[in-house]
Amino acid sequence: MSKRSQMGSLGQRWRAATVLLVAVSLLLTSVAAATRTALKPGWNLFSEEQDIQLGRQVAQDAERKLPLLNHTRVDSYLQRLGRNLAAKAPFYSYPYTFKAVNEASINAFALPGGPIYIHRGVLEAADNEAQLAGVLAHEIAHVALRHGTNQASKAYAWQLGLGLFGGVIGSDSVGAVLAQLGAGFAANSVLLKYSRDAERQADVLGTQILYDAGYDPRAMVQFFEKIEAERKGGGPPEFFSSHPKPENRIERVNEEIEKLGGLPRSYRRDSPEFQEVKRLVLSLPPPPKRGQPAAGATSPRSPEPPASRLVTFEHPVLRIRHPENWRVYGEGRDVALAPDGGIVQADSGQTAFAYGALLGVFTPRPDRRGRYTLEDATEQLYASLRQSNPELRIARRARSVRVDGRAGLSTLLENASPLGGREYDWLVTVLRDRELVYFLGVAPERDYPQYERVFEQMLASIRFR
Ligand SMILES: [Zn+2]
Repeated sequence: MSKRSQMGSLGQRWRAATVLLVAVSLLLTSVAAATRTALKPGWNLFSEEQDIQLGRQVAQDAERKLPLLNHTRVDSYLQRLGRNLAAKAPFYSYPYTFKAVNEASINAFALPGGPIYIHRGVLEAADNEAQLAGVLAHEIAHVALRHGTNQASKAYAWQLGLGLFGGVIGSDSVGAVLAQLGAGFAANSVLLKYSRDAERQADVLGTQILYDAGYDPRAMVQFFEKIEAERKGGGPPEFFSSHPKPENRIERVNEEIEKLGGLPRSYRRDSPEFQEVKRLVLSLPPPPKRGQPAAGATSPRSPEPPASRLVTFEHPVLRIRHPENWRVYGEGRDVALAPDGGIVQADSGQTAFAYGALLGVFTPRPDRRGRYTLEDATEQLYASLRQSNPELRIARRARSVRVDGRAGLSTLLENASPLGGREYDWLVTVLRDRELVYFLGVAPERDYPQYERVFEQMLASIRFR
């Protein structure tokens, strides 16, 4: 049967009307979708797969340090609620996980690529499921917009440009950056401390996610305002130490709801399951008091002591032994050998080196007579280190040493430690084929005697190729 012969039938006209209606509603949907605030992840050195890899690495470390609630009922509820929301997140599809942390403070944080942690204080303080969903949606938005690795990328690029002492781990490979950033959770505030602009974006995308998942889109910002009001006068709530409060938060969320077409006709505010889980959490024994700062804060704590057992590291120009609980960061000729927690976040936001040894090769200029001498090359290296470390001083004049039978210079330096207070830096240099091979052992003043013994062992173990 040809199409033309059916044209007049009632059935066909009805079907045509349906098609028209569908077309109109599709048009309306796309108009609505087009007016919502368009967001996209910012510049990033990492791939999405590397976000996942990095998040897993940091999560492993985080879970050793965080007191997880480990309550199946609570975690499975969070996981279900979180996954429903994450299904509405745009861009890359990350493997989101949601876990409760046994901390009374009202806080939550997300790691790149999907791991999200919610302090029990959030469950206890939320009035309804929509408010909890708001916190989850906000965290999901940070992951989807890749705020953590965007910040890490910017910090790393900046660091490369400035040539921070020890901070540049000698390689521009993303793998090395991953290793460096994955070193420790406490050192990773670069992944967790967002800018106000990132917060603005997370509020807007969080609102869209809540809306699309059928929750009251006002709930997220209502919850933030509520916890802020409750803490009036008592310092900023925990949540805002890692999520700074953007200006005009309520206005922006309300504007976004308008752009989305106003409040959805029927939206979810609560569920019996939320109230049951909240009661359950409230009935659990209170979390143990800890002197530890909130998750993500930089804490000046010492790494575990250097292991007495040494292992061999094969550097391109030499072989050296180091404590087996230290790791090698970077690749090529400039590497850091450091314990977990040895690489930290300085107040400036840069990654800095607090404990361990740097091993590298410096290329000096010839002296005025066109010669290369150990003394002159060492002074050039010192001058170059001082450029990025204005507080660097010589604590003890250079003296001659032997390193694997070769003439070397040993100089004790002091500097401001990125952990506060002073640090000692033991610089040992050897001239080899017009290049200066250097060893720089770094430790804060209070721990230096312990580390000095390790540096001595390491220097004695050096064998040039
Ligand atoms: Zn945030």
